[in-house]
Amino acid sequence: MLKILVCVKQIPDVDLVKMDPETGNLIRTGVPTLTNPLDLNALEAAVQVKERFGGEITLITMGPPMAESTLRECLAVGGDEAVLISGRPFGGADTLSTSYSIVKAAEMKGKFDLIFCGKESLDGATGQMASQLAERFDAAQISCCLSVDEVADGKIRATRALENGKEVVEATLPCLLTVEKDNFYGRLPSLEDYLASKTAAITTYSEKDIEGLDLQKIGVPGSGTIVPRIYPPELPEPGQIIRTGSVKTDVGRLMELLTEKGSL
Ligand SMILES: Cc1cc2nc3c(=O)[nH]c(=O)nc-3n(C[C@H](O)[C@H](O)[C@H](O)COP(=O)(O)OP(=O)(O)OC[C@H]3O[C@@H](n4cnc5c(N)ncnc54)[C@H](O)[C@@H]3O)c2cc1C
Repeated sequence: MLKILVCVKQIPDVDLVKMDPETGNLIRTGVPTLTNPLDLNALEAAVQVKERFGGEITLITMGPPMAESTLRECLAVGGDEAVLISGRPFGGADTLSTSYSIVKAAEMKGKFDLIFCGKESLDGATGQMASQLAERFDAAQISCCLSVDEVADGKIRATRALENGKEVVEATLPCLLTVEKDNFYGRLPSLEDYLASKTAAITTYSEKDIEGLDLQKIGVPGSGTIVPRIYPPELPEPGQIIRTGSVKTDVGRLMELLTEKGSL
């Protein structure tokens, strides 16, 4: 039976996050959270693989305790078990330490044949996690997957999107995939699965529960990047549209403006 891992992330609703103009910090308090939409596409791809080729799906997330609601949402639409990695020492992690923590926690559940990730998160949006995870899992990677065509005899064949076409590729397992959303729209849960997800057991790992976890490789100490300041982009001066209805007047006004700016 295929062992499938799906990495999902709970994110703040990015349209509602504001920035403290004085500190430059993001104000997340009171901002509703959601499951990263591209992770729901990744989960749907995994569920389709499970339905066609058999398997069991483990969901994994690293985040605060409230990220449990994302796991429950995903359990309702095809996940079989769920792992939450949570604890203060994991906080302040960049992608380097996040990928390390995820792989070490996943190892507690055995070896996975297939790993699915979203292409990127809508908040951090580095798009770095999938490649880092593939490297750490010692797995092949197929990105921009349009369809999983075959999984058999320790191999996977998939079609992936290129800028100007498609490409069929084959890899040996284990393999990590990121998917295009078009063929993998998330499904709605049945009432039965929805209710079951509300009370399903979730494995929660703190830093103390994960065997062989190097505390110097998680959270802030394990992060290779430092973000000294976050600030909104400086917007250029708004332009001016000259449209009086008369080309002659428009050109005259344009010449005036260019002269005023010393551009002529
Ligand atoms: C110095 C620094 C400090 C930071 N401090 C914090 C902090 O305190 N709190 C905080 O929330 N973020 C923090 N971040 C952001 C955090 O590092 C990223 O959210 C995280 O590493 C994932 O990166 P990404 O969102 O860009 O992932 P991407 O590479 O864009 O995501 C690709 C895919 O990877 C998977 N994935 C990504 N993140 C997770 C996850 N957590 N669990 C499971 N799967 C995942 C999903 O499938 C996702 O679609 C910090 C970043 C930096 C650089």
